[in-house]
Amino acid sequence: MRFDVLTLFPEIFSGYLTQSLLKLAIDRGLTSVHLHNIRDWAEGKHKQVDDKPFGGGPGMLLMAGPVVEAVEAVQAAADAPPGRLLLMSPQGRRLDQSLAEELSTSNRLVLLCGRYEGFDQRVVDLLRPEEISIGDYVLNGGEVAAMTIIDSVVRLVPGVLGDETSNQEDSFSRAGRTLEYAQYTRPREYRGLSVPDVLLSGNHPEIAAWREADAARRTAARLRAMDSGLQDSAGEPRPKPEA
Ligand code: SAM
Repeated sequence: MRFDVLTLFPEIFSGYLTQSLLKLAIDRGLTSVHLHNIRDWAEGKHKQVDDKPFGGGPGMLLMAGPVVEAVEAVQAAADAPPGRLLLMSPQGRRLDQSLAEELSTSNRLVLLCGRYEGFDQRVVDLLRPEEISIGDYVLNGGEVAAMTIIDSVVRLVPGVLGDETSNQEDSFSRAGRTLEYAQYTRPREYRGLSVPDVLLSGNHPEIAAWREADAARRTAARLRAMDSGLQDSAGEPRPKPEA
């Protein structure tokens, strides 16, 4: 699986791509990540990529020219089909596990990262990308969103996780898209808290039943919290959002 990332800040990716599972996946040839600096397609002595918005307003916008030309060149250059073009945007379709699964079946993903106040609208009108958001908040740039997509998709590529079954028990990948059950490792007791007896029993049907019940309990609790929208993750009351 091939990723192409278009960004103004390719160096942001270097640490993340050279550690742990992503490094292993790249070293084993299961995936490749190609970084492209949008500024390479800018014109003039100053290689300008951004300008003030027409009509006024804060900040700068990425100009259509360098972005459109960068995407077209990258999609055409590789010895591969153009792939799915994903534009990082807080206004896009929300990334979730089912979208990550869908994306993992592609051979090539081209990820376009914005900065500043985002893109000139003609980038979207001309390239017709799929706009993807990683959540309802605004980041400084699309690089963390692109990294999130790469990270969530790569672990679904066959061969990346040592044990092919290990992501089947992950939250949102399980049957019914429930959360994963609680897990424990050594020591058996820590600060007065013990591992549940059933997990030490060796009785696999009972362990499986306990895990299913715990997964269902956690999932129901989370759905209740999301429904009410009145608690944060620490259980503290939250102000009610305005209608
Ligand atoms: N002015 C834009 C708006 O209000 O929709 C936000 C621009 S944001 C400061 C700069 C860039 O960060 C965006 O173009 C996008 O690429 C990226 N970005 C910000 N939040 C994001 C999110 N939640 N998901 C994906 N990308 C995001």
